[in-house]
Amino acid sequence: MTFAATVLTLYPEMFPGPLGISLAGRALAEARWSLDAVQIRDFATDRHRSVDDTPAGGGSGMVMRADVLARAVDAARERQPAAPLIAMTPRGRPLTQERVRALAAGPGVTILCGRFEAMDERLFEARDIEQVSIGDYVLSGGEIGALVLLDACIRLLPGVMGAASSGDDESFETGLLEYPHYTRPVEWEGRTIPEVLRSGDHAAVDAWRLSRAEADTRLRRPDLWERHEGARVRSPSGARREKKDR
Ligand code: SAH
Repeated sequence: MTFAATVLTLYPEMFPGPLGISLAGRALAEARWSLDAVQIRDFATDRHRSVDDTPAGGGSGMVMRADVLARAVDAARERQPAAPLIAMTPRGRPLTQERVRALAAGPGVTILCGRFEAMDERLFEARDIEQVSIGDYVLSGGEIGALVLLDACIRLLPGVMGAASSGDDESFETGLLEYPHYTRPVEWEGRTIPEVLRSGDHAAVDAWRLSRAEADTRLRRPDLWERHEGARVRSPSGARREKKDR
Protein backbone atom coordinates (compact mmCIF):
# COMPACT_ATOMS: atom_id res chain seq x y z
CA MET A 1 0.00 0.00 0.00
CA THR A 2 1.27 3.46 -0.86
CA PHE A 3 1.45 6.05 1.90
CA ALA A 4 -0.23 9.04 0.25
CA ALA A 5 0.93 12.47 1.37
CA THR A 6 -0.91 15.61 0.35
CA VAL A 7 0.58 18.97 1.27
CA LEU A 8 -1.46 22.16 1.07
CA THR A 9 0.97 25.05 0.64
CA LEU A 10 1.64 28.39 -0.97
CA TYR A 11 5.01 26.99 -2.05
CA PRO A 12 4.46 23.60 -3.74
CA GLU A 13 7.88 23.98 -5.37
CA MET A 14 9.42 23.23 -1.94
CA PHE A 15 8.31 19.59 -2.39
CA PRO A 16 9.61 16.92 -2.48
CA GLY A 17 12.79 18.98 -1.90
CA PRO A 18 15.03 17.04 0.48
CA LEU A 19 12.56 14.13 0.43
CA GLY A 20 13.50 13.57 -3.22
CA ILE A 21 16.93 12.23 -2.30
CA SER A 22 18.41 9.34 -0.32
CA LEU A 23 16.07 6.93 1.49
CA ALA A 24 12.89 8.96 1.01
CA GLY A 25 13.73 9.76 -2.60
CA ARG A 26 14.29 6.13 -3.46
CA ALA A 27 11.09 5.16 -1.68
CA LEU A 28 9.21 7.83 -3.65
CA ALA A 29 10.62 6.46 -6.93
CA GLU A 30 9.57 2.97 -5.82
CA ALA A 31 6.05 4.27 -5.06
CA ARG A 32 6.23 3.24 -1.41
CA TRP A 33 4.83 6.71 -0.81
CA SER A 34 3.33 9.37 -3.04
CA LEU A 35 3.31 13.13 -2.80
CA ASP A 36 0.83 15.70 -4.02
CA ALA A 37 1.77 19.31 -3.31
CA VAL A 38 -1.34 21.45 -3.77
CA GLN A 39 -1.27 25.21 -4.30
CA ILE A 40 -3.59 26.84 -1.74
CA ARG A 41 -3.89 29.90 -3.96
CA ASP A 42 -5.83 27.80 -6.48
CA PHE A 43 -8.71 27.89 -3.99
CA ALA A 44 -8.90 31.68 -3.85
CA THR A 45 -11.90 33.06 -5.66
CA ASP A 46 -11.37 36.78 -5.97
CA ARG A 47 -9.75 38.58 -8.86
CA HIS A 48 -6.43 38.95 -7.04
CA ARG A 49 -6.43 35.33 -5.85
CA SER A 50 -5.81 36.60 -2.33
CA VAL A 51 -5.27 34.08 0.43
CA ASP A 52 -4.65 36.45 3.34
CA ASP A 53 -5.84 39.67 4.90
CA THR A 54 -4.98 41.99 7.76
CA PRO A 55 -5.46 40.74 11.34
CA ALA A 56 -8.68 41.59 13.12
CA GLY A 57 -7.86 43.73 16.12
CA GLY A 58 -4.74 45.12 14.46
CA GLY A 59 -1.13 44.12 14.78
CA SER A 60 1.58 43.04 12.42
CA GLY A 61 1.54 40.49 9.64
CA MET A 62 -1.24 38.93 7.65
CA VAL A 63 -3.70 36.16 8.47
CA MET A 64 -4.59 33.32 6.12
CA ARG A 65 -8.28 33.37 5.27
CA ALA A 66 -10.54 30.66 6.70
CA ASP A 67 -12.72 30.46 3.58
CA VAL A 68 -9.79 29.84 1.23
CA LEU A 69 -8.12 27.34 3.58
CA ALA A 70 -11.40 25.50 4.14
CA ARG A 71 -11.89 25.03 0.40
CA ALA A 72 -8.37 23.61 0.07
CA VAL A 73 -8.90 21.33 3.08
CA ASP A 74 -12.33 20.15 1.90
CA ALA A 75 -11.01 19.29 -1.55
CA ALA A 76 -8.14 17.30 -0.04
CA ARG A 77 -10.44 15.47 2.34
CA GLU A 78 -12.82 14.59 -0.45
CA ARG A 79 -9.99 13.05 -2.44
CA GLN A 80 -8.56 11.16 0.52
CA PRO A 81 -11.22 10.83 3.24
CA ALA A 82 -9.26 8.31 5.33
CA ALA A 83 -6.09 10.37 5.72
CA PRO A 84 -5.69 12.35 8.95
CA LEU A 85 -5.70 16.09 8.38
CA ILE A 86 -2.92 17.95 10.13
CA ALA A 87 -2.16 21.67 10.30
CA MET A 88 1.34 22.83 11.12
CA THR A 89 1.28 25.44 13.87
CA PRO A 90 3.43 26.32 16.87
CA ARG A 91 0.15 26.31 18.83
CA GLY A 92 -0.29 22.60 18.13
CA ARG A 93 0.53 19.48 20.10
CA PRO A 94 4.25 18.69 19.87
CA LEU A 95 4.98 15.89 17.38
CA THR A 96 6.15 12.64 18.98
CA GLN A 97 7.59 9.40 17.67
CA GLU A 98 4.43 7.70 18.90
CA ARG A 99 2.25 9.92 16.69
CA VAL A 100 4.68 9.48 13.77
CA ARG A 101 4.47 5.70 14.12
CA ALA A 102 0.68 5.78 14.14
CA LEU A 103 0.59 8.02 11.06
CA ALA A 104 3.10 5.83 9.20
CA ALA A 105 0.87 2.81 9.83
CA GLY A 106 -2.09 4.57 8.20
CA PRO A 107 -3.10 5.40 4.62
CA GLY A 108 -1.22 8.71 4.50
CA VAL A 109 -1.63 12.26 5.71
CA THR A 110 -2.82 15.63 4.52
CA ILE A 111 -0.75 18.52 5.86
CA LEU A 112 -1.79 22.16 5.83
CA CYS A 113 1.15 24.56 5.89
CA GLY A 114 0.69 28.03 7.29
CA ARG A 115 2.53 31.17 6.27
CA PHE A 116 2.46 34.78 7.48
CA GLU A 117 1.25 35.49 11.01
CA ALA A 118 -1.32 32.73 11.41
CA MET A 119 -4.35 30.93 10.00
CA ASP A 120 -7.84 32.27 10.86
CA GLU A 121 -8.83 30.41 14.04
CA ARG A 122 -12.37 29.74 12.78
CA LEU A 123 -10.91 27.14 10.40
CA PHE A 124 -10.03 24.99 13.41
CA GLU A 125 -13.45 25.48 14.95
CA ALA A 126 -15.28 24.55 11.76
CA ARG A 127 -13.19 21.60 10.58
CA ASP A 128 -11.74 18.57 12.31
CA ILE A 129 -8.04 19.37 12.00
CA GLU A 130 -5.25 18.07 14.21
CA GLN A 131 -2.88 20.91 15.11
CA VAL A 132 0.73 19.81 15.30
CA SER A 133 3.91 21.64 16.25
CA ILE A 134 7.40 20.36 15.50
CA GLY A 135 8.90 22.14 18.50
CA ASP A 136 8.99 25.22 20.66
CA TYR A 137 10.46 27.63 18.14
CA VAL A 138 8.95 29.59 15.26
CA LEU A 139 9.52 28.75 11.60
CA SER A 140 8.68 31.11 8.75
CA GLY A 141 6.22 28.60 7.33
CA GLY A 142 4.73 25.15 7.83
CA GLU A 143 6.53 23.58 4.85
CA ILE A 144 9.68 22.61 6.70
CA GLY A 145 7.50 21.23 9.48
CA ALA A 146 5.66 19.14 6.89
CA LEU A 147 8.99 17.87 5.54
CA VAL A 148 10.01 16.93 9.07
CA LEU A 149 6.79 15.05 9.72
CA LEU A 150 6.90 13.25 6.38
CA ASP A 151 10.58 12.33 6.73
CA ALA A 152 9.88 10.80 10.14
CA CYS A 153 6.95 8.79 8.72
CA ILE A 154 8.57 7.67 5.47
CA ARG A 155 11.61 6.05 7.07
CA LEU A 156 9.22 3.80 9.00
CA LEU A 157 7.33 2.57 5.92
CA PRO A 158 7.88 -1.10 5.06
CA GLY A 159 10.92 -1.62 2.87
CA VAL A 160 12.28 1.91 3.23
CA MET A 161 14.97 1.35 5.83
CA GLY A 162 17.68 -1.18 5.07
CA ALA A 163 17.63 -3.45 8.11
CA ALA A 164 14.10 -4.38 9.13
CA SER A 165 15.01 -4.07 12.77
CA SER A 166 16.60 -0.63 12.64
CA GLY A 167 14.24 1.81 14.20
CA ASP A 168 12.96 -0.42 16.96
CA ASP A 169 15.36 0.57 19.71
CA GLU A 170 16.04 4.10 18.58
CA SER A 171 15.66 7.23 20.63
CA PHE A 172 12.06 7.67 21.87
CA GLU A 173 10.84 4.25 20.70
CA THR A 174 11.46 2.84 24.15
CA GLY A 175 10.67 6.09 25.92
CA LEU A 176 14.41 6.60 26.36
CA LEU A 177 17.14 8.31 24.35
CA GLU A 178 19.23 5.81 22.45
CA TYR A 179 22.63 4.71 23.80
CA PRO A 180 25.75 6.20 22.14
CA HIS A 181 27.49 4.53 19.19
CA TYR A 182 31.12 3.96 18.20
CA THR A 183 32.96 2.55 15.19
CA ARG A 184 36.54 1.98 14.04
CA PRO A 185 39.26 3.15 14.51
CA VAL A 186 39.35 1.57 17.96
CA GLU A 187 41.61 4.36 19.13
CA TRP A 188 41.17 7.95 18.02
CA GLU A 189 42.91 10.98 19.54
CA GLY A 190 43.80 8.85 22.51
CA ARG A 191 40.20 7.75 23.10
CA THR A 192 39.19 4.12 22.89
CA ILE A 193 35.87 2.46 22.25
CA PRO A 194 34.40 1.23 25.57
CA GLU A 195 35.86 -2.18 26.35
CA VAL A 196 32.50 -3.90 26.78
CA LEU A 197 31.53 -3.15 23.16
CA ARG A 198 34.61 -5.06 21.99
CA SER A 199 34.11 -7.98 24.35
CA GLY A 200 31.80 -10.03 22.14
CA ASP A 201 29.62 -10.61 25.21
CA HIS A 202 26.18 -9.74 23.86
CA ALA A 203 24.46 -9.80 27.23
CA ALA A 204 27.05 -7.40 28.63
CA VAL A 205 26.69 -5.16 25.58
CA ASP A 206 22.91 -5.08 26.02
CA ALA A 207 23.24 -4.29 29.71
CA TRP A 208 25.73 -1.49 29.01
CA ARG A 209 23.50 -0.01 26.33
CA LEU A 210 20.45 -0.04 28.56
CA SER A 211 22.29 1.56 31.44
CA ARG A 212 23.72 4.29 29.17
CA ALA A 213 20.28 4.91 27.65
CA GLU A 214 18.82 5.29 31.11
CA ALA A 215 21.62 7.44 32.51
CA ASP A 216 21.72 9.74 29.48
CA THR A 217 17.96 10.14 29.42
CA ARG A 218 17.91 10.96 33.12
CA LEU A 219 20.64 13.55 32.68
CA ARG A 220 19.69 15.10 29.33
CA ARG A 221 15.95 14.77 29.25
CA PRO A 222 14.48 14.71 32.73
CA ASP A 223 11.06 15.23 31.14
CA LEU A 224 11.34 11.94 29.21
CA TRP A 225 12.82 10.18 32.20
CA GLU A 226 9.98 11.26 34.43
CA ARG A 227 7.47 9.91 31.97
CA HIS A 228 9.45 6.70 31.52
CA GLU A 229 9.72 6.05 35.20
CA GLY A 230 6.28 7.32 36.04
CA ALA A 231 8.06 8.66 39.07
CA ARG A 232 9.43 11.92 40.34
CA VAL A 233 12.58 13.25 38.64
CA ARG A 234 15.78 12.48 40.53
CA SER A 235 17.58 15.45 42.01
CA PRO A 236 20.08 17.03 39.57
CA SER A 237 22.95 16.30 41.98
CA GLY A 238 22.02 12.62 42.04
CA ALA A 239 22.00 12.50 38.25
CA ARG A 240 25.40 14.17 38.09
CA ARG A 241 26.94 11.73 40.55
CA GLU A 242 25.59 8.86 38.50
CA LYS A 243 27.37 10.16 35.39
CA LYS A 244 30.77 10.50 37.11
CA ASP A 245 30.54 6.91 38.34
CA ARG A 246 30.22 5.53 34.87
N1 SAH B 1 2.54 33.99 14.71
C1 SAH B 1 2.64 32.58 14.88
C2 SAH B 1 3.78 31.99 14.08
C3 SAH B 1 3.56 32.02 12.61
S1 SAH B 1 4.85 31.27 11.73
C4 SAH B 1 2.80 32.24 16.36
O1 SAH B 1 3.48 32.99 17.04
O2 SAH B 1 2.28 31.22 16.82
C5 SAH B 1 4.08 30.92 10.19
C6 SAH B 1 3.68 29.48 9.96
O3 SAH B 1 4.81 28.65 10.12
C7 SAH B 1 2.65 28.92 10.91
O4 SAH B 1 1.35 29.21 10.49
C8 SAH B 1 2.93 27.43 10.86
O5 SAH B 1 2.27 26.82 9.78
C9 SAH B 1 4.42 27.39 10.61
N2 SAH B 1 5.18 27.11 11.83
C10 SAH B 1 5.97 27.98 12.51
N3 SAH B 1 6.53 27.42 13.58
C11 SAH B 1 6.09 26.13 13.61
C12 SAH B 1 6.31 25.03 14.48
N4 SAH B 1 7.08 25.14 15.56
N5 SAH B 1 5.69 23.87 14.20
C13 SAH B 1 4.88 23.75 13.13
N6 SAH B 1 4.64 24.76 12.27
C14 SAH B 1 5.23 25.93 12.50
